[in-house]
Formats: sequence, C-alpha cells, structure tokens
Amino acid sequence: MMDVKDRSEDNQRELLEELRSHEKLTPKQRRAIEPQPMPEQPPEVRRHNIQEVPLGLSATAAMIEAYRCIDCKKAPCVSGCPVGIDIPGFIRRIQKGDFKGAIQVIRETNCLPAVTGRVCPQEVQCQAKCTVGKVHKDVSMAVSIGRLERFVADWERDNKQFEKPETAPSTGKRVAVVGSGPAGLTVAGDLVRLGHGVTVFEAFHKPGGVLVYGIPEFRLPKESIVQKEVDLLETLGVCFEMNVVIGQTITIDELLEEEGFDAVFVATGAGLPYFLGLPGEELIGVYSGNEYLTRANLMRGYGFPETDTPMVPSKNVAVFGGGNVAMDSARTALRLGAENVYLVYRRSREEMPARNEEIHHAEEEGVQFMLLNNPVRFHGSDEGRLKAVELLQMELGEADASGRRRPVPVEDSNFKVEIDTAIISIGNGPNPLVPATTPGLETSPKGNIIADRDSAKTSKRGVFAGGDIVLGAATVILAMGEGRRAARAIDEYLKTGKW
Ligand code: FAD
Ligand code: SF4
Repeated sequence: MMDVKDRSEDNQRELLEELRSHEKLTPKQRRAIEPQPMPEQPPEVRRHNIQEVPLGLSATAAMIEAYRCIDCKKAPCVSGCPVGIDIPGFIRRIQKGDFKGAIQVIRETNCLPAVTGRVCPQEVQCQAKCTVGKVHKDVSMAVSIGRLERFVADWERDNKQFEKPETAPSTGKRVAVVGSGPAGLTVAGDLVRLGHGVTVFEAFHKPGGVLVYGIPEFRLPKESIVQKEVDLLETLGVCFEMNVVIGQTITIDELLEEEGFDAVFVATGAGLPYFLGLPGEELIGVYSGNEYLTRANLMRGYGFPETDTPMVPSKNVAVFGGGNVAMDSARTALRLGAENVYLVYRRSREEMPARNEEIHHAEEEGVQFMLLNNPVRFHGSDEGRLKAVELLQMELGEADASGRRRPVPVEDSNFKVEIDTAIISIGNGPNPLVPATTPGLETSPKGNIIADRDSAKTSKRGVFAGGDIVLGAATVILAMGEGRRAARAIDEYLKTGKW
C-alpha cells in the first residue's frame, strides 16, 4: 500500500504532468495553483538536534511552485531584491526543468545564493512585491522566490554543477579586505575575478562573519554551505588570513604603507553587543546574544564534551529582545537542553522585528513568549550567580518615532521569574577598533564608518567600507549589495588612481 508521503509525491507528479500538458496557462490558472509547502523536521524532533529545520523543496515541488509565477511584464519582485536578481528569468528556467540555467541567472548578481535562499527576509523584500501575493491580498500566497533560489543553489552543489568563473589576467594590484562576513566575501570574489590580488583578514579562526558565528547551524549549515562558498573563493585565488585583528595585530595604515596593499575594504560588521544597563547584569549566567551564539555556533559548544568549548547547562533561560538574534538565542537554548526558555519582549508580537518564520518556528518548538514585559533588575545568589529576573508589565501607548506603539509601564506590576541564564539580545553596534586605530577615518555619532553609498569611499584615500559597519546591523543581502558596489569602485580606483 502506498504511504502518505508516496501518495503526495505521486499527486505532485500528476499535477506537474497536468500543468505541462497545457500549451499555455493563463495568469488565472497559475494563480489557482496552491503554494508548495516546505517540508520540515517536526518541532518535537528538531528541538533536540542542531540539523537544519526546513528540508528543501523536491524538484517536482520546485517546478510546480515555478508555475505559480505569472511572469509579470514589470516584474515588481525584482525591485524588491536589493541585488536586483532577474527573478522571473530564473523562475522560468526552473519551470522548464533547466536548473543549471536558473542558477546561472541568479549567480549573475548574487554570489551566495545558498545562503540568501535560506536567510533573506523575502517576505518583506521580493515576495512582498509579488503580484500573485498582491492579488490574493496575502503575502504568504506570493511565489516562494526564496525557496526556489535555495532549491537551485542546493541542486547546483549536490550535483557538482558549479562552473568556475573566468578570472581576468593579473593586474598586479593588491587589496586587503578586513572582515570575512557577506560584505567581505562578496568584495573578495568580485575583485579576484577582475584580476586583483585579494587577502581577507579575519579576527576569528573561521571565515564567514555572522554566517558562522551568529546564525545557528539549524538555520544555515556551516560546513556544507558557508565553508563551501569560502572554498570556492580560495580556488579562485583569494587568500584568507585568520586570527588577525586589524587595529591590534596590524593597522590599516601599515597595510597600505608597509605591506604593499593598494586599497583596503573595511567590512568589520556590527559585532558590539548592547546591554540593558540594569543592576545585576554583571552576574554569572548573564550573556550577550553574540557571546552565547558564538560559543554555541563558532566554538561548537553544542557538541561538548566531543568539542572543546563547554556551555554551562541551563534549566530556565530568559532571552531579552524580539529580533532574529533573540529568536536564534532562544531556539539554541532549547537545543542545548534548557527546560524552560522564556522570550521576554517589551512590546507585542506585532511589533517584533524578527522574521515571521523564525517567530513561528520558535513557538512551535516550545519557546514561551512573555510579551509586554520589561526587565528592571537581575537578582543573584551570594556567590554572584544569576537566580531571577524582575519584570515589569507594559501596555502599548502612542506610536513612537519608529512608527511602533510605545510600551508604557503598568505601575506596581513587578514580578519575579526564576532563571539561571539570561541572554541579552537587544541589538549590536559597530566594532570601534578599526575607526579608533585609523587616523582620518570619519565615523557617525553612533560609530559607523561614513562611506559613500555608491562608491563605498571613506574619508581616507584608498580605504573603502561597507556592510554592517556602515549601515548598522542590517541584512546579509544588503551587506552583499554593498560589497558588490564597492568592488566596482575599488576596481575603478585601482585602474585610474582617481579618488
Ligand atoms: P559580519 O557578518 O558581521 O562580518 C564581519 C566580520 O569582521 C566578522 O567575521 C568579524 O569577526 C570580523 N572583524 C571585526 N573586526 C575585525 C578586525 N578588527 N579585524 C579583523 N576582522 C574583524 N540577516 C539576514 O539577512 N537574515 C537573517 O536571518 C539574519 N539573522 C541574523 C542572526 C544573528 C544572530 C545576527 C547577529 C545577525 C543576523 N542577520 C541576519 C544580520 C546579518 O548577518 C548581517 O547584516 C551581515 O552578516 C553583515 O555582514 P557584514 O559582512 O557587514 O559583517
Ligand atoms: Fe513572478 Fe511574482 Fe515576480 Fe510577477 S512579481 S514575475 S508573479 S515572482
């Protein structure tokens, strides 16, 4: 007897055959096709492992999903993509089963498709503009552009279809890239193709930036996805120098004046965690989201004792914040064995900045949301260990400058929750080391490097900057877009010497 999975696969194949039998489908017929669901690990299973949660579309499901695209003339989805991928162009190829052609279209503008297909907030970018979603008046009915992008990127990797791009003859020029996150990797890939020598300097022992130290394995596999992208850059000739802290090991001026680099691109990201500034924040058991995630991800604390980095076992964990870092921290704490994980957020669910998918996954996995609550102090034991957090209830008032309703304290509503671990995930600022050690490099009052948005030029000749260090904590695709624009400007500078 055919089991449920077989039957649904059979149904999908039948549906695909039927769609193919039509010489031409009308937009109405295309819009009537149901969105193809993403298979996932069940919540009760995945909360005990670190493997990826969504499993990826099958080839049949991807082709059916591609049939949902009505190939709009003006393609509003493209204007929603920060790197302007030819979205209908790659979807048309998937529909025909030409997966190789599809990934080639994506790679024209996006050098990390397996990453962006997984972590881009498509629901507020390309998919938010998709005509199909607009007609249904429901963004969840938009064509699943991100899932399709991920599908062809995985297909390319699994079938070893990647073609090494051609590189221009050597120009003899050398560029130093500081930081190996998405901005640094993109600029390195583009410049090496243009024939320039590129060395990426990274403070950590592994390249990838937030892709390896922040975003957890269950959302973005490290070895099979991020490291593969880095390997590819190495085969193109990019050199990676790990464990080099620019500003301490060597300065930007030394790179330019003594080490023979012709230009520098600074992509050091926003890795400086903000704290709440509350009494008791110094207690043992209080972490920043960045430290917690770095220990768990980059240092592979989830594998202790097989791996070297211990993570203190937690029973009751409170995570403070409502963004992606908070969701990642809470879901990681569950996977590390916590019995209760509370997510404390001072506004309501509607104002949460995290992606809907992450909020939904966290809830499914058992994270307990404590909305409209704000911490006021942490309480500790005589030995200085965290024992509890005192919370104050909030209600929503008028909208503030961000357009979100302002949380207002409810008087005398304080109460305590017993916890042994607190993870503060309320945002990150720019790392101050490079600006502090580079005379002539101008920064904003918040400490971000000031750089021209088109040319990435800073106030210092030969020094370019982009990604989160310029934008503030933003997104992977925006950081990549910055890297791409910077590569063009650096190439121009190296060729003409004009500043
Ligand atoms: P980064 O990725 O921060 O990389 C900067 C690199 O520079 C780091 O490796 C750092 O070690 C290195 N560095 C810093 N100082 C020095 C120095 N002095 N010398 C040498 N190296 C140095 N965005 C999304 O689009 N989707 C998501 O789902 C998402 N989830 C996120 C989850 C978390 C936990 C975090 C923290 C961020 C998330 N983001 C997400 C944001 C996104 O990851 C960042 O916007 C993006 O990584 C910025 O890229 P970048 O290259 O500018 O910097
Ligand atoms: Fe296809 Fe939607 Fe883009 Fe139109 S807006 S081309 S339907 S993905």
